[in-house]
Amino acid sequence: MKNEKVARSETEWKQVLTSEQYRILREKGTERAFTGKYWKHKQDGTYLCAGCGLELFSSETKFDSGTGWPSFWDAIDQTRIETRHDSSYGMHRVEALCSRCGGHLGHLFDDGPKPTGQRYCINSASLKFTNEKPGRQ
Ligand code: FE
Repeated sequence: MKNEKVARSETEWKQVLTSEQYRILREKGTERAFTGKYWKHKQDGTYLCAGCGLELFSSETKFDSGTGWPSFWDAIDQTRIETRHDSSYGMHRVEALCSRCGGHLGHLFDDGPKPTGQRYCINSASLKFTNEKPGRQ
């Protein structure tokens, strides 16, 4: 069920995630730019949350931001992304999290392309790609 929260203990998350996924999704880490597996990925399909499998982004809204992280100008459904003010590292940013499992995805900026002007800057490690179109959940 897409609206049901996914809650696991940190021990369980460590068992189901790779150490890199755990560091980013659960400890709010960031992968180095231009190193993740999806920043220049161009196939048609859907990007799911690597923590819980919720469909988050369609390839149709992916764009090349030049940042070295996968970037999207919209989410499949706004309610699937939770946002929170993040003042870490002396910056004022908007953190983007999966609304179902609370996993850290990346940040949301307002300097994206039309039509939304938004830029979801997401870690590859927080995503899992499938060639299926969105809408199976
Ligand atoms: Fe999730």
